[in-house]
Amino acid sequence: MRILVAGAGPAGSLVSILLARDGHDVVLADRAQFPRDKACGDVIGPLALAVLERVGVDLGADRHHIGSMWLGFEGREMLMPARPGLGHRGFGLTIPRRDFDDLLYRQALSEGAVARNGVVSGVARLGNRLRARISDQNDEFDVVIGADGANSSVARSMNMTDQGRILLGFALRRHVPGSAKADRVDLLLRNGPAATPGYGWVFDQGDNQLNLGIGIGVGSDRSRAKGARELLDRYQQDLVDRGVVKLGGGHQEMGGWLKMGLVGTRVATDGVYLVGDAAGLVNPLQGEGIAAALVSASLCASVVDRSGPDGAAAYRSAIHEHFGGFLSTGYLAQSIALGHPKVADLAMRSLVRAGSHSERIASAWGMFWNDLTQYSGPQPGSFGAWLALTAGMRLARATRARLSWDD
Ligand SMILES: Cc1cc2nc3c(=O)[nH]c(=O)nc-3n(C[C@H](O)[C@H](O)[C@H](O)COP(=O)(O)OP(=O)(O)OC[C@H]3O[C@@H](n4cnc5c(N)ncnc54)[C@H](O)[C@@H]3O)c2cc1C
Repeated sequence: MRILVAGAGPAGSLVSILLARDGHDVVLADRAQFPRDKACGDVIGPLALAVLERVGVDLGADRHHIGSMWLGFEGREMLMPARPGLGHRGFGLTIPRRDFDDLLYRQALSEGAVARNGVVSGVARLGNRLRARISDQNDEFDVVIGADGANSSVARSMNMTDQGRILLGFALRRHVPGSAKADRVDLLLRNGPAATPGYGWVFDQGDNQLNLGIGIGVGSDRSRAKGARELLDRYQQDLVDRGVVKLGGGHQEMGGWLKMGLVGTRVATDGVYLVGDAAGLVNPLQGEGIAAALVSASLCASVVDRSGPDGAAAYRSAIHEHFGGFLSTGYLAQSIALGHPKVADLAMRSLVRAGSHSERIASAWGMFWNDLTQYSGPQPGSFGAWLALTAGMRLARATRARLSWDD
């Protein structure tokens, strides 16, 4: 079977590794020359690490660990503990995306995928095959996998997203020399309409380097991201003023879109599959997307290996079964925060106040927020996380918070 994978981020490289291993003829196309950078907080979370371990991707020793972190809001803060779960460790790693993505990309090539440098600009049906344009050349495939990120041209050319419904975020990060007292995130809910809702983060990358950034929810309206740089400047200054970070001079800045919550997206149609950000699988509560990119890549590889171009229905139901419950809850929460900022403000103020007194509440929120509820096993806070998820799913169902075109 001849397969085009458009995009060599974590989703595209992993699906290529798995399909090349299964003996398929995989072309892995990316518009960038590797190694290339990507806007990210650079945190490879515990679920992502578990997938990579299962697949046999070796990230090397001596990586910087990230575990428990502070969540702050309006002068209060709570520590969200990170603990091992049923199939994952109690920490993630911070690895600059330039290195992480290059490592996965090289592995895909060493497993037999063939690299093609070029822009995939159009996919069309040609009888029972698919024709794709890669820069200025047309080529034919049995299956096309769109792993080309939040602005996927595969999804657009096959009409698989409803641009008026998708749920977008915008995030901006800086690599800054400096040190931080601890890894932390701060909710930024009161920064004017352009920046509501959102949060800022500071993550230590080791070697006196910090990843410092902000992410904001914008719904389907990209113009709401206009105030992002100003918000990051203010957040950075606030961290300095509070003595939370000590910064050296200069920084390197990069921003990018997040496509969240599976909303307004059909993740597969005859012969064409979307994985990772192209499928809109980013966590709407905290912006993590690498774990979902890797999980969707694994699900996609097993469907394509089994059913080739005829697995669209199987892939759609696998994605819904795996991600639908949490993403519908996250989508609902994000919609409330966008439409009713005061409600979000009150809810988060109460939560952080309660979590600053009770480790169990802080744990429950950490599990729920990071979409670890189903994988945590019995531990302090897991019942609270389960309650939050169950209530959220029921509310999403009752309010008909519809996600993709298929549910
Ligand atoms: C500022 C910021 C901070 C974030 N922080 C985190 C974090 O700390 N942890 C986390 O888990 N997630 C984080 N995310 C989300 C995370 O970056 C994404 O979820 C993740 O990169 C998705 O992987 P992907 O492979 O689906 O897509 P991408 O990583 O976006 O890869 C897509 C690839 O497709 C290529 N491409 C795009 N269009 C075309 C085309 N037309 N033709 C050919 N190639 C194309 C691109 O060059 C790219 O290599 C963050 C996002 C942002 C913007």
